[in-house]
Amino acid sequence: MTSLPTGHAGAALAAQRAVLVIGAGTMGSAIAQVAATAGHRVYLRDTSDAALDRGRAQIAQDLERRVQRQRLDSAQRDAILERVTPAPAGSAVHGVGLVIEVIVEQLEAKAAVLRAVEQEVGPDAIIATNTSSLSVTAIAGRLARPDRVVGMHFFNPATVMPLVEVIAGASTAPEVVQSTYATARAWGKVAVTCRSTPGFIVNRVARPFYAEALRLLQDQATTPATLDAVMRDSGGFRMGPCELMDLIGHDVNFAVTRSVYEAFFHEPRFRPSPLQQELVAAGWLGRKSGRGFFDYGEAAAPPAVSDVGARAQRPRKVRVEGALGPARSLVDLLRTCGEVELELVDGPGLLRVDGHVVALCDGRSATARAQALGEPVLLFDLALDFSRCPRVALAACAQASPEHVDKAIGLFTLLGKKVSLLDDAPGMVVTRTVAMLVNEAAEALQHGIASAQDIDAAMQHGVNYPLGPLAWGAALGFDHVLSVLRHLGAACGEDRYRPSLCLQRQGACTLPGGMAP
Ligand code: NAD
Repeated sequence: MTSLPTGHAGAALAAQRAVLVIGAGTMGSAIAQVAATAGHRVYLRDTSDAALDRGRAQIAQDLERRVQRQRLDSAQRDAILERVTPAPAGSAVHGVGLVIEVIVEQLEAKAAVLRAVEQEVGPDAIIATNTSSLSVTAIAGRLARPDRVVGMHFFNPATVMPLVEVIAGASTAPEVVQSTYATARAWGKVAVTCRSTPGFIVNRVARPFYAEALRLLQDQATTPATLDAVMRDSGGFRMGPCELMDLIGHDVNFAVTRSVYEAFFHEPRFRPSPLQQELVAAGWLGRKSGRGFFDYGEAAAPPAVSDVGARAQRPRKVRVEGALGPARSLVDLLRTCGEVELELVDGPGLLRVDGHVVALCDGRSATARAQALGEPVLLFDLALDFSRCPRVALAACAQASPEHVDKAIGLFTLLGKKVSLLDDAPGMVVTRTVAMLVNEAAEALQHGIASAQDIDAAMQHGVNYPLGPLAWGAALGFDHVLSVLRHLGAACGEDRYRPSLCLQRQGACTLPGGMAP
């Protein structure tokens, strides 16, 4: 396979070249607005005149909102609108340097439209598709000039979301990738380049964010509200997976998972969830249907989050036995809180709270960890930043006494955290989700889908992750991630948790500065 072209050397589409956007729906009209705002003449085409009218109205409405928020003046609004020219099917277009196809997500429909447009525009025009799930290579393969075809995947709403994935099909010419990348950047976007593989970067690397949540709920380890609170307040994610699936729509989220699963020939990591299938079958699609994991009816009570802080028993002495790895900042927190006697000694990397073992989750359940240690254990889940996170999740082994549980709750309450108690599932919530995100990012890197920098940038700017998964893995220590995955694999007996070769083979892939596994 040829090396993946990076975008950095290319020249952006010249301002005097026009852009032809085909499809004036949700995405097409927003992309037309982005291109017109960047100064291009934009032809907006649709088979439906009503869709064209709606598309232009959507642009006018969005621009008006920007004027009201003083982000644009009215002269700029008028100039941008004037640059968007409705171009019903069959009407002539001039000087087009870039075509962006944004019609229905059907391979043959896209190929037919683009085959016709190839005849209409000059041979130097770039032909881009905004497909979110189809193979760019397959679309290009149906055209006369596959080397001119590229993916330009915007995120919804395209006027707001910064990311554009620039996707190289097998035949795409490097200069086409470079120019598309430079154009997206010139339009104010964060551009990344990747190969045409199922899910590209974001829709592939994000799958575990949903899959691990669905698995935990299927195992009845916690409730959707508590799971979301832990992912937001400990994991640092802007939204929890359940509320996000409710927002995206379970039908859409389930369809994306299925399409990635099918495209990867039933790779177990991407296996869809029967729980989500049930939600779809029930018509509980999320916000748009008024009910998903949560009830969106006006009379609905806010969902209850597990918060056990009131049971706190203030600990007197905490002994830190060995290095705490990703939880090392707890030592400084304990020191500055000054309300417990603190002792630091060598050991396997755990806390002893008035004699009771409290340890960071390493992928095993608390009960499995207790068996290995030969004494009861309370586990706490990973946090993005223990010094700042407002919540910590705990899980107790089967043998833990009520006093042991209360001491662990007391420790984190003393440190200013809310505490949620989870059932004793391997990998808890944040630990297993982050490990699987790092693993998927490493696998994408292993397969040469994109550079480490682009994978991380895509996840931060496409789905607002607080850190890129590879940078997160480096901060945790790739050996820690590897051991979480191995413990999960052993506990669940599933191939789905097998670590990527990139994590297994020391130095097998190039991670960004200082990220060597
Ligand atoms: P949409 O249904 O809102 O718009 C599609 C438009 O294409 C409609 O106006 C329709 O009339 C028009 N159309 C259909 N066939 C046509 C043809 N042959 N010629 C010209 N116009 C035609 O869909 P959308 O949500 O804007 O999605 C469009 C594309 O963008 C799809 O490929 C989708 O996968 C991709 N995408 C969507 C999102 C999203 O969140 N909606 C995000 C990223 C990518």
